[in-house]
Amino acid sequence: MTVVKDSGSRAALPPFGEEHEELRESARRFIEREIAPHVDEWEDAREFPRDLYRRCGELGFLGLKFPEEYGGQGGTHLHDAVWVEELARCGDSGGVSAGLNAHTSIAMPPVFGFGSEEQRQRWVVPGIRGEKIGALGITEPGAGSDVASIRTHARPVDGGYVVNGAKTFITNGVRADFLVCACKTTEEGGHHGLSFLVLESDMPGYQVSRKLEKMGWHASDTGELSFTDVEVPDENLLGEENGGFYLIMANFAWERLLMAIGAVGAMQRLVARSIEYAQERDAFGRPIGRFQAIRHKIAAMGTKAEVARALTYDALRLFQSIQDGTGSGISQSDVIRQVTMAKLFTQRGLVEIADDALQIHGGYGYMREYGIERALRDARLGPIGGGTDEVMKEILGKQMGL
Ligand SMILES: Cc1cc2nc3c(=O)[nH]c(=O)nc-3n(C[C@H](O)[C@H](O)[C@H](O)COP(=O)(O)OP(=O)(O)OC[C@H]3O[C@@H](n4cnc5c(N)ncnc54)[C@H](O)[C@@H]3O)c2cc1C
Repeated sequence: MTVVKDSGSRAALPPFGEEHEELRESARRFIEREIAPHVDEWEDAREFPRDLYRRCGELGFLGLKFPEEYGGQGGTHLHDAVWVEELARCGDSGGVSAGLNAHTSIAMPPVFGFGSEEQRQRWVVPGIRGEKIGALGITEPGAGSDVASIRTHARPVDGGYVVNGAKTFITNGVRADFLVCACKTTEEGGHHGLSFLVLESDMPGYQVSRKLEKMGWHASDTGELSFTDVEVPDENLLGEENGGFYLIMANFAWERLLMAIGAVGAMQRLVARSIEYAQERDAFGRPIGRFQAIRHKIAAMGTKAEVARALTYDALRLFQSIQDGTGSGISQSDVIRQVTMAKLFTQRGLVEIADDALQIHGGYGYMREYGIERALRDARLGPIGGGTDEVMKEILGKQMGL
């Protein structure tokens, strides 16, 4: 039982070491004190307060993997992974995790990785402080999995670009101050004419057309955006013109890995809660955990959670070894394979575990106050967002030479 019911005192599992476990403890304390008690209210309000970014920034949680000279903590992706796992494990809201993570882990990294020094100062430094909020805009009404069919167009003009088009399903889309936005910069089809421009929400012609209502992730905002003749100066181009597809691919690895890590945290919590409930809830004169059907279900849930953790931590180890140059013999394609498998396994696995947890909780599981129904609703995004299950299988199939 102790294998799956972590009490928080377990020894560090590779690739984590003692310093990561110290961070884990402080992240957990902060989340339990300042996030978890407010989650219900934020879910009802359909957003968490903007101040939460500032508070997380003040405590250093938004800049864990960024260098100190930019106001970060000088850590690695492993530090970020601890934060993401803990947010999912004790934060109890996919929406809060999504809103914070979209900013730190999918919007800021391309600016940091591909941006100039000036661009880092403009968006990463205030982003780490939680003063400016970022979003990543790739998906469009007519282009999701098929990224190459993006139609938002940036027409080169003297000194910059004029952007026209629309984006949808953008996490933080409503309140983002800056949008790292994929645009077509040539008329040619395919992957090669994509570039990334940083659009700022106060640019004339930039409009939030809708805040979308959705099944889960209620505490996060998901926006639909439209751009009408938005004038974007040259200094807002990220990286090379027409080199945007490479940026998308580079970003996907971390986005998918962090989704897997978040799912690992959420699975652990659901297994632990199911064990507790099965011990407390009586039916027919005994705790329901004494019925073989329930006991076996929890045993299978715990096994799935452990497999998910082992696969995800292994993907994280490979990913980090490439980042810090210690991965001799490890190729980029090894990382992609492991990250893709982790994303695929954990996202569907979390939906299954959340559904099992709900079944174990019976009618109480269906009631809002227990938070289990929210876990199931929030989990359902996993097999869609950041690349669908089908797309993950296509990537793996191709890697296998099929
Ligand atoms: C809550 C939420 C938040 C999001 N946040 C962001 C964000 O911040 N930024 C952003 O850019 N995007 C975001 N997205 C978009 C998300 O990445 C896309 O929804 C996802 O990539 C799928 O695209 P689609 O919805 O257009 O589905 P489609 O691509 O239209 O797919 C529809 C179905 O067809 C299947 N399919 C498509 N191609 C193939 C194929 N080759 N083989 C087999 N099956 C296939 C898919 O797997 C799926 O089942 C978000 C989405 C949601 C719901």
